Amino acid sequence: MTTITMASRAAASLVLPAAPATPAPIADAAQHAEKAIPTCTWQPPDAGMECSQPLGSGHPTLCILHNPAGDKDVAEFDRAVQAKIDQEETNPQIPQVDLTGVVFPSGIQPLRRAFSKPVNFSWARFAGQADFRYSRFSGDAEFRNVRFAADANFAYTRFGGQAHFWGAEFAGETAFVGAAFHREANFSSVQFSSTGDFQGTRFEGDVDFSHSKVGKALNFQHISFPSSNMDFSVLFQDMVLERARSVRFEDMDLSRVSFLRTDVTQVHFVGCSWGHRADPLLWPLPLRGPRVLSQRRVVLFDELDLETAPDKDQASRDRRLVADLYRQLRQNLEASRQEAEAGHFYIGQMEMRRRDPSNPPLYRLMVSLYRVLAMYGESYLRPPFFYLLFASIAALFYLSGGLETGSGTVQASVTGLTWTQLPEFARGYVQAMVQALSAVGMLGGAINSKTWWVPAVYYVNMLLGTFLLGFFVVAVGRHFKR
Ligand SMILES: [Zn+2]
Repeated sequence: MTTITMASRAAASLVLPAAPATPAPIADAAQHAEKAIPTCTWQPPDAGMECSQPLGSGHPTLCILHNPAGDKDVAEFDRAVQAKIDQEETNPQIPQVDLTGVVFPSGIQPLRRAFSKPVNFSWARFAGQADFRYSRFSGDAEFRNVRFAADANFAYTRFGGQAHFWGAEFAGETAFVGAAFHREANFSSVQFSSTGDFQGTRFEGDVDFSHSKVGKALNFQHISFPSSNMDFSVLFQDMVLERARSVRFEDMDLSRVSFLRTDVTQVHFVGCSWGHRADPLLWPLPLRGPRVLSQRRVVLFDELDLETAPDKDQASRDRRLVADLYRQLRQNLEASRQEAEAGHFYIGQMEMRRRDPSNPPLYRLMVSLYRVLAMYGESYLRPPFFYLLFASIAALFYLSGGLETGSGTVQASVTGLTWTQLPEFARGYVQAMVQALSAVGMLGGAINSKTWWVPAVYYVNMLLGTFLLGFFVVAVGRHFKR
């Protein structure tokens, strides 16, 4: 097999000695030599239509569209491209406008026009500026693996069908300002070597920027998504942001956006909104039902996505990734001194730890307690509330156990209380309460009682009070620090 191929290649180079000067992407000149009418021998890198254009651009095996020479006649090229588009648009036998692998020289006419059929630009190369402004693609627009060597302008372009830019390379400045994608917009594995500008772009289907690389800046401003359809997703996963500080998301609804495995620590988020969910106010399980006892918190789309994941092991791994994402967003906002907003993401980070079944049960219990008592140090209302609650319960214990004060013993039966004993009981309770409240940091000193368990209650009272005081100080620091 190998020898036959080599022999025919050798024969071809004998017939066409000019061929090696400008090698074709796929040089199979032997096949061309066998054909009666010489047509272009360009073949698509993946399965697709071959070119049937006549030769005549000076290249021995390629038509003017596929000729990679930089000095080909631009006027002649423009005529050939327009003629091909017109012919394929009007011929009902042809399903799409096929411009795969076409090499667009610099200085060409703008390509802005209305395409009624699906258009395929896959593997095309644009040596100069590509101007698609105000174009309308009614069918699918394929731009897979396209190389734009200079600026590419798709401002105010309308994509009626799916838009596939998978694997495309944008070397110059790229603009999709005011563009509208009515169906899926796929920019996965795209390389933006310079800047990508998506200002006022409208996305109405799924959006995918996963695995794309950004060399300089990426700008998403005033982006609108469909409000009625809540089934779409926007993926910014696994992105490589070489200058994350120049990546900006402004005035954008991020409630359906996934940033999994993309480092967003330095990305700018300005005036963006996030998703919310209602969590139980206190303890997770028994109080799940009533909405009154729930609390809204900021939630990432990736966390909500975990709950529908069929693979539990994968969900556990992803939970750690989501926890990391919360941490990055917290750091991001802390760096810009947005402490209160950063707190929302800290809660998310802790929630991921609490829900991760791979963490030890005792650790998860402690995290749960921290949540109930202080919302992970974010709430400055919970610690004083629980401080008062625990003190009032401890006071009841002191009263029934008996307190030794300077003026005698304070003791009252909590169970057999009558109306006439009430003022006496209230006086005793106030004294016990003072003792309970001042237990924090042993302000009140040691407790005196003849009952053995009263000091034990006192130490628990002291310990809890000290923790709650600490949580309170932390929360106040986070919320009111300058
Ligand atoms: Zn061709």
